[in-house]
Parts: sequence; structure tokens; C-alpha cells
Amino acid sequence: MASAFDLWRKAGHSIALVPTMGGLHGGHLSLVAAALTTHDKVVVSIYVNPTQFAKHEDLADYPRTMTEDEAALSRFGDRVSIFAPDSLYHEDHATMIVPQGAALPLEGAHRPHFFTGVATVVFKLFQAVPADSAFFGEKDYQQLAVIRQMVRDLSLPIVILKVPTMRNASGLALSSRNRYLTEEQSAIAPQLYREMRACAQVVAGGLAWQDACDGAKDRLIAAGFASVDYFMFCEADSLAPATVVTDSSRLLVAVWLGKTRLIDNESYRLLCIAQ
Ligand code: AMP
Repeated sequence: MASAFDLWRKAGHSIALVPTMGGLHGGHLSLVAAALTTHDKVVVSIYVNPTQFAKHEDLADYPRTMTEDEAALSRFGDRVSIFAPDSLYHEDHATMIVPQGAALPLEGAHRPHFFTGVATVVFKLFQAVPADSAFFGEKDYQQLAVIRQMVRDLSLPIVILKVPTMRNASGLALSSRNRYLTEEQSAIAPQLYREMRACAQVVAGGLAWQDACDGAKDRLIAAGFASVDYFMFCEADSLAPATVVTDSSRLLVAVWLGKTRLIDNESYRLLCIAQ
């Protein structure tokens, strides 16, 4: 990576990093395509980061599809390279970045280890791949906020850029974890985005957002979801619960479908106009 960077820098190339955990799908590829529109070279990192999984979570089962990932990225040609380290951690690794602020609510409340693992690995990736910019998906909206906060607070010399969530035709956000869903669960999963839209639309009609979200949660359970970790409108910047829902509010959700956890989010404004 270091020698490739030397050559690229000498040639005056701009370089973007797209961090991923592999199991690549159209959402990841939309990040690569966006990065290619503004940068000469794009490095896609593929690394299943152990420190963001709790012991009981799906680290062992997480999709590892390097052959397919390489094939998907080869279509972009030689401006795209893969960085796939075996490990990013020393066997005695003992230093973590523990983000506060945007990392505390929502995912932070349900998966307390998660953003510490994410911030630490993203920091290490920025060291290994010192790109001009890094691209992140709005699919993981809170993660994007935590990374922006880390870059601001630790004065990291990299620009963070965001890409909208890619969905399939039914509205389900593309995710590596969608592969875990059975056929029956795959048929139920699109109900999540339908409820997000319906919820925004009844809020637009005047219902208090808390009541609208309670109704959506009940319907999701009735549709076959196992449980709802959160389904709430937040302020888009602070991620604090919305006082009143405005155009800048965002609906963030995390639900369980069988043993698979799905997360999604969208702006109130877009949900109101989405078909
Ligand atoms: P992951 O491999 O799940 O860690 O995701 C790597 C990057 O791809 C993150 O910045 C995600 O937010 C982004 N990403 C994942 N799914 C999507 C999607 N459906 N649309 C856009 N970006 C996505």
C-alpha cells in the first residue's frame, strides 16, 4: 500500500478510501462509483473487523466472499485497488478509541462495544491508507456521524463524504446481512421501509411522532419481526430524540427479523415524498 501511494502521489493523483467489511453489494459499489467521479484512485478496504462484534454476535458467520468481491470490483478497472489485510491488530493490541457524543444513543445503547470497534478500525485504516477522502454510506447514518466527529475531534487530515442508501425495488436497504434472511423473512423484510414511509406520512398528517412510531412498531411485530430495538425520529445532527419533527429530522430504526438485525434510516422529508 505504501509503495502504491508513493507512485500515485508522485503522479499527482487524488486518492479515496472506501472502507468495507466485504460481502459487497450494490450499496458498496455505489460508494466506489461516487468516489471514482471525484478521485483518480480508489482503495476499497475489505476487512471484517473483530473489535466491532460482541462475543455473542455474528463475527464467525459474517459473509466472506473475497472471490466475488474481487470480480465485482474488477469491473471498475485499474483505478480501483483492494486493501485486504489479514489482521489490523497486534496480538497484544491494547489501545482503543472510545467515541462519546454521537456514539452514545441508538446503536451505542444497544451495542455498547460497537462504535469503539468502528472508530478504532477506521482510525487504523486512515493510517494504513492515508487517502484524501473517505466515502461512507448513509445506510449507517450514526456511524457516519461518529466518524465525522472523530475526524473533527482528532484533527485527522481526511475529508469524509457520504453516499445515499441504495435500496432494492421493494425498498429494503441493501446490506451484507440480508444474506442471512430465509425466503420467508425476505418477503417480510420490505415491510420495514413501508412502515418508515407510513410513519412519516401520518406524522405529516398531524399525529405525534411517538404515537406514530408506536403504531409502526406494533405492526412490525404483527408482520413477523421478532423485536424492535428502536424506531424513532432524531435530530439529524445531534441524534438526540426529535422534540418536534421537522424537515431536518431523521427516522432511525433497528429491528430483529429472526436472528438477523436490520438497521435503516431516512430523512423525514424524503420519507414523506417516497412512493
Ligand atoms: P459494511 O461493509 O457494511 O461495513 O459497509 C461499508 C460501507 O458501505 C459503509 O459506509 C456503509 O454505510 C456502506 N453501505 C452499506 N450498505 C449500503 C447501502 N445499501 N447503500 C449505501 N451504502 C451502503
